[in-house]
Amino acid sequence: MAILDNILASCIPFVPKALMRPLSVRYIAGESRADALVRGDHLREKSYTTTFDLLGEAVTNSSEIDAAAGEYKLLIQTLIDNDFPVNVSLKPTQMGLDISRNTCFDTVNAIVSLAQQQHGFVRFEMEESNTIDGTLAVFERLREAHQQHVGCVLQAMLFRTHHDATRLLETNPQQLNVRMVKGIYVEPAAIAYQDMNEINKSYLKTTRMLLERGAFVAVATHDPAIVEGLTDILADIPEAKDRVEIQMLLGVQETFRRQTRKAGYKVRVYIPYGEAWHKYVIRRLKRNPKLARHALTGMFGKREKL
Ligand SMILES: Cc1cc2nc3c(=O)[nH]c(=O)nc-3n(C[C@H](O)[C@H](O)[C@H](O)COP(=O)(O)OP(=O)(O)OC[C@H]3O[C@@H](n4cnc5c(N)ncnc54)[C@H](O)[C@@H]3O)c2cc1C
Repeated sequence: MAILDNILASCIPFVPKALMRPLSVRYIAGESRADALVRGDHLREKSYTTTFDLLGEAVTNSSEIDAAAGEYKLLIQTLIDNDFPVNVSLKPTQMGLDISRNTCFDTVNAIVSLAQQQHGFVRFEMEESNTIDGTLAVFERLREAHQQHVGCVLQAMLFRTHHDATRLLETNPQQLNVRMVKGIYVEPAAIAYQDMNEINKSYLKTTRMLLERGAFVAVATHDPAIVEGLTDILADIPEAKDRVEIQMLLGVQETFRRQTRKAGYKVRVYIPYGEAWHKYVIRRLKRNPKLARHALTGMFGKREKL
């Protein structure tokens, strides 16, 4: 299956943009803030909370960084104007991490300051393994300045993650807010678990420790095994229930999303938007060929149950 996935992934860049767009509609709100708001409204009516993400990554041009930061500020104002809680997610390399840690800190600091004035929240996401040290260093500075108004992401597939979580818990664990994910990037066996059972074990081990020590955990997953594991953890530490939410991506596993909410979990949906949607889809598919199968089977009718 891996060989087939690689072949499919290499075909994706040749699929015309016009053909890709209808396929992406399910997963990407649209190109504009207004499109994102429409999806947000729809989800709000169904009692989901939301986090909004402007697509973009690996930016090294300062005018593009300024443009992305400007869009986040307008997004925050739009959320306020439309009575949405301010909750946004952003990528370190979209905010200048590839230029310098200081550039990234200054850019994100201005955005979190604005969000904080509205009691809002900014999630500083995690990308490829070579960016993790920089991301965590910038996050520590942001956290010192903004406490519970900023959170990070930890990737269960990496061997280092439990240690990173332990270190983050050393200061103010009650103000620590971590989104746990499996990790979307393809990482080598020297630094990352390759087996799904091992990744799930790592995910639940770190989640348990974070909850035991008083942190808030956003459990970002569409995997029923992870949600079952979380339910077991909460049976052992029921006082942690208020410090947990499930997060899912727009358009993915919507039946499971409904079931999870019915089971009593708070569920937040991640809404990506922006002109960079095509680049984003191509980069993601190249990095993770498994996703190419989802994309192409969806495009040619034999849609897998998502
Ligand atoms: C809210 C949110 C934020 C995230 N932020 C980050 C981040 O900052 N850094 C990072 O490295 N990763 C991030 N991820 C991605 C994450 O690392 C995983 O790659 C992704 O969530 C798939 O893992 P899973 O736990 O859903 O389990 P899996 O076992 O991979 O998937 C469970 C089921 O969901 C389906 N599924 C999962 N994802 C998709 C998809 N995209 N399209 C179609 N079907 C899918 C699978 O087919 C499978 O049936 C985020 C995920 C979410 C939900």
